[in-house]
Amino acid sequence: MDTINNLQMPRLDRVQRLRSQKLLTMEYQPSEIAEILGIHIDTIYRSLIPAGCPHRRDEKNRIWIVGTELTQWLQTIKKKKLSMQPDEAFCLHCNRPVKMQDPLSITFQNRVIEMVTGICPHCGTTINRARARENRE
Ligand SMILES: [Zn+2]
Repeated sequence: MDTINNLQMPRLDRVQRLRSQKLLTMEYQPSEIAEILGIHIDTIYRSLIPAGCPHRRDEKNRIWIVGTELTQWLQTIKKKKLSMQPDEAFCLHCNRPVKMQDPLSITFQNRVIEMVTGICPHCGTTINRARARENRE
């Protein structure tokens, strides 16, 4: 089952990802996860949980997250993101990577990064993607 395509990608920076390595194979409350990762608790409720972060709800409707499951899940998402094709970009409206229509490449002056702008074929939203410029002089 592949549900990741429909997910909103949680935004964690490198430090937060490193911190997530400290999580143990035990259940944490969202407030504890937020403290360990150094993120706002709302990020867990509004971003991680809707995006499919593994969790369970107890009989009082409290959320519990197993630390190592969260770490693994974050890595899966990261890999998924990296595996985007060069002509794909992440559509914020569709919440998934899509093939860009009419891609237009803009290379910045430093010639290291190029910005590709295109149209999402599903919803028509303008999507952008920065990517490292390929080596062709
Ligand atoms: Zn879209």
